[in-house]
Amino acid sequence: MHPLSQSPHTVISATHMTPSLVRVTISLPAPDQSLSSLNFDLGLGDFVRLSTPHTKYLKARAYSPTSAPSREGSFDITVKVYPDGVMSRAIGALKPGDTVNVLGPLPVPWLTKKRSLAHTHAGFLAMGIGITEILQLARSELCDPLIQTATLLWVVRGAEDCEWCYGELEEIAKGSGGRFQWAVHMTRDKGRPTADSLREAFKSGAAETAVLCVGTKQMMSSGYTMFAAAGFKKKLLRFGFRSPLGRRSSPMVADNKKRPINSV
Ligand SMILES: Cc1cc2nc3c(=O)[nH]c(=O)nc-3n(C[C@H](O)[C@H](O)[C@H](O)COP(=O)(O)OP(=O)(O)OC[C@H]3O[C@@H](n4cnc5c(N)ncnc54)[C@H](O)[C@@H]3O)c2cc1C
Repeated sequence: MHPLSQSPHTVISATHMTPSLVRVTISLPAPDQSLSSLNFDLGLGDFVRLSTPHTKYLKARAYSPTSAPSREGSFDITVKVYPDGVMSRAIGALKPGDTVNVLGPLPVPWLTKKRSLAHTHAGFLAMGIGITEILQLARSELCDPLIQTATLLWVVRGAEDCEWCYGELEEIAKGSGGRFQWAVHMTRDKGRPTADSLREAFKSGAAETAVLCVGTKQMMSSGYTMFAAAGFKKKLLRFGFRSPLGRRSSPMVADNKKRPINSV
């Protein structure tokens, strides 16, 4: 049984950060529980599946929590609302006091499949709302003292799609001792990114840098193709990686059996 699936969760707040982006704060089963204590490893991209009472006959959708894993009593998801999106529109209409069904933690399958090669620099390419997952992965990488730099290039259409997150990115930069750099690529001004955009954004040596793209399947595939063209061939996929942010001491979901834990 997933630790979050036993009862409906209450919506504590729903804040519209932009006309198409909502941040929802959702209660955990007990006020002294946190995502970490419920065995989430956000540094591995663990996510929740969520549905609302109005969408219960549909397949629940995946969301990456954006709040700190140690926060007690509640967690946040940040959701882009698509005009024709079934679940995102239902989430966009949530009000404090409403209930939602949540299942988790669920592991990102592709993070369990390959072994990473040694790296001292991390490169993140976030496409659109893919930033929600990158935030936690970057925080986790920066907990590793062997990581000298973590660099993020965030591809969005325009300023209205990214300004909501500047505070969080600045906070990560502040806590990183100068190791975290980030830049935004606005496609409305610059067009789609190219291998040259990546070479310009990621200054660390390609041999020492492991990269990760998060977005739709198509975006991720074109991101890795661009990285390869720019000389970055090492991917940040770790098999058995235990993130310094999370805890994986007593596996509570069957999928964890596929993910043996080695020390870093
Ligand atoms: C591991 C994981 C983590 C995720 N984390 C988040 C998160 O933190 N925040 C978040 O907002 N989403 C996240 N998603 C995406 C989320 O699961 C849903 O796919 C998204 O909310 C759309 O669902 P929907 O029911 O509203 O759209 P649907 O009803 O499934 O789709 C309807 C229409 O919405 C539009 N649409 C849907 N998805 C996209 C897309 N990716 N790009 C462009 N248009 C689209 C299209 O017009 C589509 O035709 C994550 C997905 C995965 C796999």
